[in-house]
Order: sequence, then structure tokens, then C-alpha cells
Amino acid sequence: MQSFYYWLHVYCLLRDSNNTPKFGCRITHSFLLQLSIFSYHRPFQFSSSPINLLTPPATAIVQRNGVSSLLSYEESEDQKLLRETAGQLASQFNDEYWRARDSDGEFPREYFDALARDGWFNLNVPAELGGTNLGMIETSIVMHEVAKKAGMAASDIIMAICVFAIQTIKTFAKEPLRSDLVRELGQGKHIMAFCLTEPGAGVNTLDISTTATKEGDGYVINGGKIWITLAHEATLMNVVTRTTPKNLAKKRSDGLTLFLLDTRNLKHGEIRKKRIDDLSMRALGSNEVFFDNVYVPSENILGELDKGWEILPSLLNAERISTASTSIGLGELVLEKACNYARSRQVFSRLIGANQAIQFPLARSKADLECAWAVAQKAAWEFDNGRDCSLAANIAAYMGARAAFNASDRAIQTYGGLGFAKTSDIERHWRDSRLFRTGPVPEEMVLNFLGQRVLGLPRSY
Ligand SMILES: Cc1cc2nc3c(=O)[nH]c(=O)nc-3n(C[C@H](O)[C@H](O)[C@H](O)COP(=O)(O)OP(=O)(O)OC[C@H]3O[C@@H](n4cnc5c(N)ncnc54)[C@H](O)[C@@H]3O)c2cc1C
Repeated sequence: MQSFYYWLHVYCLLRDSNNTPKFGCRITHSFLLQLSIFSYHRPFQFSSSPINLLTPPATAIVQRNGVSSLLSYEESEDQKLLRETAGQLASQFNDEYWRARDSDGEFPREYFDALARDGWFNLNVPAELGGTNLGMIETSIVMHEVAKKAGMAASDIIMAICVFAIQTIKTFAKEPLRSDLVRELGQGKHIMAFCLTEPGAGVNTLDISTTATKEGDGYVINGGKIWITLAHEATLMNVVTRTTPKNLAKKRSDGLTLFLLDTRNLKHGEIRKKRIDDLSMRALGSNEVFFDNVYVPSENILGELDKGWEILPSLLNAERISTASTSIGLGELVLEKACNYARSRQVFSRLIGANQAIQFPLARSKADLECAWAVAQKAAWEFDNGRDCSLAANIAAYMGARAAFNASDRAIQTYGGLGFAKTSDIERHWRDSRLFRTGPVPEEMVLNFLGQRVLGLPRSY
């Protein structure tokens, strides 16, 4: 049944020579896509079949805590369909479109509206709130495919809405705010910015100095953040604040509180933003943000007062799986471009791809990307199944970002001088791919985590 809806939707998307849909209207497309995704079975399930030695080689039985589950490294038909449909939408926004947004720094509104129109922000919205209730595995597949077809900014928008906003709000916000906002986010009515980084604290989140102090039924936020992606477009902000001073907190990690701020309805105060002229993902843009006496009601606290540190890992693990998926998709994109070029460019009367100095680094990139994707899927599976995914999520983010950057760098080398031309788009992907080695989590902090928490080495942070 799902396939029927899907193919009907695909037929509706066919366009005639005037670029007009052959059949139906946008509402029809959106409705059919919703039906095709909605008829997806959920929640994601692994069958618990008895061990069978004739199990295909791509699958393995895992025994854990006496429970056996079938782990498959092959995407299901439904997941392939989801990937294909996401890729089709992303492919409608070509290199010229993203090159222009990179150059003018304007928000890619047409692309955002197309995602909303076809229901993509509903991916992980619970069914009772009108969504398709899919998990991190499917969300990461969509981000991976979108990055592969349209690059990093295209995928990052899905991360901003589905992961930063919907995943966080549906897990940690209070009713009725939770239901209202998740439903609206699924319909593409909001953009949310995650406001964590501060100039004075850097990667040491416990050193932040933005405060929220009690006033009547709410709190008043004062302070400044830096590098906040999409703050200039945001109607919602997730602001990490200090509600108890560090020296008065019972535990070192106590005293942080996350607030969900609706920037449209401030009772009092002002939010000022200053755009940063930066290197990566210029279509989305980063900002300095200043909060001057901004009032926020108590019911907008995410999780519990003073316990922000306890909910940050869940948020940051989801973020790491997302940056990994996006990086790896981007890596596949540049690798494909580089291979196409290496198969067609002749120098010394031979194809440059015949030279092992060109061919081997491209082959190595493929190996790196495949490994990173396997870990990213493991992390997503653990996330969806309520397991601790911090090890796999950190490794996936680290390996994915490096694999994407190396693939982009080799793509420039393969293109030679042409790789430096804006029109090749390789230089844009190279700039974008650099970001996830530094933020949201720098490589050093992943290695610190592995060294200290996993390997038991002495503390360095
Ligand atoms: C384009 C862009 C978009 C961003 N978007 C957002 C956003 O939307 N929201 C948000 O909150 N933040 C955002 N950030 C911020 C990003 O997450 C941070 O830049 C990143 O976490 C690093 O923090 P920092 O810049 O303060 O580096 P610093 O903390 O100043 O660190 C500088 C360097 O020192 C290293 N270092 C520090 N301490 C140690 C140690 N103990 N051991 C080893 N190395 C160490 C760090 O790893 C880093 O390489 C964005 C950044 C960029 C560039």
C-alpha cells in the first residue's frame, strides 16, 4: 500500500516541458507523500527470530541480556524508499541555487518551504501530533541522502528542525507547550537556534556566564552567546543558562538550566543579533546573540531547573549522529564529483584517474566514509533503542567529519586548479566540510572523551 502511495506521488511530481506538474497540485503531492511515509510501519522494530544458520551474510544475531535481536546492515525497503524520496526533493535544488545562497547569505527559504510542504519536518514528530514518528535511524538516512544530493547546508536545516528542535522539545518540554510547538515545527512554522557557546567559556560549558534569575512566575535572561547558527531567522531559541552560580552549586555539574524562548512573544527585554561573516555553511549563517533582560516563563524550562547538564548528553548525542550523517553524505557527494572528473580529465594523454596518486586517496576516502557510516548507524540504532550511544555517536562524529574533509581536500587535488573556482562548487564543499571538525564538538574533545571516559586515562578537561 505504501508503495502505491509513493509511486502515485512520484507520478504527480513528473513535470511537463513548462516545468508544471503533469498531475495534481502541491497539496496532492504533500498529501500523497504523507500517506506514503505515514504507512511506514513504526516504531522501528527488530524481529526476534530464532538463530538460523542460513541467515543471509548481511545479518547477524546479537545476544544481549538474554534477548536476541536481528541486526541488519541492509536498509529495509521502506528505508530505501525514504532515502530515494528525500534525494529526489533535494535534487530539485541544484548547485547554482546553493552557490547563490552561499554567496548572498540569504536563508534558503524556497528549499525550507519545499521540505515543509512535503512533510519532511514531520519525520520524527509523534503520530498523535500529526507526524510519522520515525526514529534517529531514519532521520540520519534522510540527512545522509540529502547531503549527498545537495550538500551540507541542505542537510543541516533538517538537523536544526528535526533534531535540535523537535527531538529536544518532544523529550524535555512540558505540556501544552510541547504539543503546540512540536506540531507547529512539523508544519515548518518555526526555525530554532541552539544557544550554547559563549566567548568566555568555549568548550567548557560549565563556565558559561549567561544567567537566568527568578522574577515573578518566570526568569530573566542576561548574557551573550556566539556562533549561533540561524539565530537571525529563529522564532524559537533553546538557551543554556546558569541559574545557580558555580560556587553555590551542590554538585560541579548542577546549576545549568535550558530555556525554550519564543522570540515573538517577549513580555519584556530585548534579543540583539549580529551576523558573523564566516567560512562554512554561509547559507545558514552564524551570529553573536545578546540577551538583555529577556523574560521567559517558568513553564518554558526544558527538563528541570538546575539540571540542564543532565539533559545535554541526549541532545548532544543526537546532534553528533546528525553531524556524522551529514558529513558522510557530503563526503560521498564530493567523492562522486572527484571520481567523475578523474574518469574524464586527460593529462599526458591518459586519464588522471589511471594514476594511483590520484586513485588511491579516492579509494581511501571511500573506505573511511563506509566505516564512519557503519558507526553512525550503530549510534542511531542505540539511540532509538534507549541504549547509551555516547561512544558510537562521538566516534561517528569524529570519523565522519575527518572522512568528509579528507574527501573534499582530495577532490580539490583531483580537480587541480579548477577545484579553486567557485563554479566547480568543490571549494564550497571543502569550506563546509571543515566545520564539523571544530563544531559542534571539536575533535580534541572527542579524543578527550575517549581518553578519559573510555580508556580511563588521567583527566584533561
Ligand atoms: C560555523 C559555526 C556554527 C556554529 N553553530 C553553533 C550553534 O548553533 N550553537 C552553538 O552553541 N555553538 C555553535 N558553534 C560553536 C562551536 O560549537 C564551537 O566553536 C566549538 O564547540 C568550539 O568552541 P570554541 O570556539 O569556543 O573553542 P575553544 O573552547 O576556545 O577551544 C579552542 C581550541 O582548543 C581546544 N581545546 C580546549 N580545551 C582543550 C582541552 N582540554 N584539551 C584539548 N583541546 C582543548 C578546542 O578543542 C579547540 O580546538 C558554531 C561554530 C561555528 C564555527
